[in-house]
This record gives sequence, C-alpha cells and structure tokens, in this order.
Amino acid sequence: MAEVGLTTTIPVEVILAAGDVPVDLNNVFITDPDPEALVRQAELSGYPRNACGWIKGIYATALRYGIKRVVAVTQGDCSQTHALMETLQAAGIEIVPFAYPYDRDRILLEQQMLRFIDRFGVDWVQVEKARAALKPVRELVSEIDKLTWQEGKTTGAENHYWQVCCSDFNRDAGAFFKEAQEFYQQAQSRPARKETIRLGYTGVPPIITDLYEFIESLGGRVVYNEVQRQFTMIDALEDDLVTQYQRYTYPYDIFGRIEDINRQVAQRRLDGVIHYTQTFCFREIEDLLIKQGVNCPVLTIQGERPAPLDARNKLRIEAFIETLCFRALSNKPR
Ligand code: SF4
Repeated sequence: MAEVGLTTTIPVEVILAAGDVPVDLNNVFITDPDPEALVRQAELSGYPRNACGWIKGIYATALRYGIKRVVAVTQGDCSQTHALMETLQAAGIEIVPFAYPYDRDRILLEQQMLRFIDRFGVDWVQVEKARAALKPVRELVSEIDKLTWQEGKTTGAENHYWQVCCSDFNRDAGAFFKEAQEFYQQAQSRPARKETIRLGYTGVPPIITDLYEFIESLGGRVVYNEVQRQFTMIDALEDDLVTQYQRYTYPYDIFGRIEDINRQVAQRRLDGVIHYTQTFCFREIEDLLIKQGVNCPVLTIQGERPAPLDARNKLRIEAFIETLCFRALSNKPR
C-alpha cells in the first residue's frame, strides 16, 4: 500500500480501488503541531512571501512526510497548483495529473477519469465497488451535519472536521467510519443548543485556527460549511462515479456554487454567511460574485498563515454578529 498525496478532493475511489492510501496534504499540514513552521520551511526553500499559505504548507508537508506520489488537479482547483507540482517534481515526487473541465462536460470528465483509472491500474468495476463501500461513510457524515443544523447538537468546528475529512477519510475509511459512528452516538445524546445567530461558512477551509470557537463565544454558530459539505458528495451518491464528480460544485464555476449556497441558506434558515478568503488566492476575486449572488448578508474575512484570528477579523465578526442580532430582533413579530 503506497501513500498518495492529495491537494484537494479528487476521485478518491480510484486510489482506494488500487489499494493505495489517500493522504490529504491540507489536513496533514493544518493538524501538524506546528503548521507555521511548515510555511516557514517552504519560504526557506524559496517560496515567495506572496504565495498562498496553503500551497506553502502542502509543499513542506509532502517533503516532511516523504510522500512519493501526488495527484495534481491541473484545472478546477488552484491557479498555484502548477508551480507547486513543478517544485514537488523537482524534489523527486511523481505527479499524477487530473483535471475537472470548467463547464462540467461529461465526456471530458469521463476521459479524465479513464486516464486516472488507467494510471492506477484498476478498472471501473473495482472503482464502483470502492464507491459503494464509501457510501455509508458519506451518509453517516451527512447525518452528523444534520445533527448540527437540524438538532443543534454539534459545534461548527465538529461539523467542519467530519466533513472536511471526507477528502481522504483520514487515510483509513474503515477506522474513520467507526470513529464517526461513536461520535454520532455520543453527540446524539447531548442537549440541543439554541444559538442566537445561525451562520454559514463559504470559501476554502480556514487556515485560521480558532474561527468557529470565536463565533460561538459571541452567541453565533456555523451550521453550514459549504465546501466541506461538498466533500461528502451527499447530493450525488445514487448515481455513478462520473455523475457524482460532475455534481460536486467546488471545482467548477462559481455560479453553481452560489446556487448550492442559496439552497442551503433557505433550508438551514441562515441569518448570514461568512466568506473566508485566503490571502494571495485567486478565489479572492470571486468574493464580489458571492456578495452579489448570496441571498443573505455576507461578511468577508481573510487569513494568511496558520494562526488564531487577528484583532481586525475579530472586530469585524463581532460587528457582523451584532448587526445580525439587531436585524433578527427587528424582524421578530411583536
Ligand atoms: S487557498 Fe486558493 S491559492 Fe491557496 S491552495 Fe486553495 S485555491 Fe490555491
């Protein structure tokens, strides 16, 4: 069994069908005891200061953990991936390319899948078998999500954690399933919490380490994590592999993502949405479309390196939650 590094969500079923171990380098980086040291290590190797913190972290993590093979999403994820992969290749790491077609073209996506499957030496039957094996795991994580937004029994951070782990299932889908079952049972027996303000979180997962906790200290709670929920693929489990990854919104255009966000804003009765942007990320530009398109108040915050919230972001979140509280009180029937 060989470890295969991932920089984003890809058809992980192929890697599992091949008997290899998927390793989401983002998760390994951010849960490292000292993620800031990994960013500094990349900078010492020559990464510029104005490269994305996640990219620097992924680079140093792949080298630190001796990863020999990395899947590179050359379209649909990140404009900095190309250079990241070149620097990893120069360090002796094998690169396996994968591309999401911008317009969700089924034929192009299927061709990419075929190349990917071929590269890992498996076939469709094996991959569909791996997909079927993951279905109960994905469904269980979606039940944990429901515990957050329907029953108020899990925190925003817990909601983030279980869903974000669906990129690589913590490198062991069987053990992850067991842990999720235990967590689900334990969380179910908790008393329901009543938050004042129900928030959504959109954008790439935060490099900030205490965001959810800070929001909860102010009486708000994140009951929707957009990209993390997409990692579960819960909206497309009944179909085939190609359709599943065609329905996954994150690697395609922003408009599909906005439609998905608005569905959840309505269903989860969100008071507001926090849009997280990463400094030096091309996705910062999409903030203007999110602000235009999302059907509730949006606050944009920004993070650069792995660290707790800075004073500026704290102040902005406080003001946002206060405004939403005031709005909620004014809209209450007398
Ligand atoms: S935050 Fe943006 S620039 Fe950084 S890795 Fe993610 S997509 Fe790329």
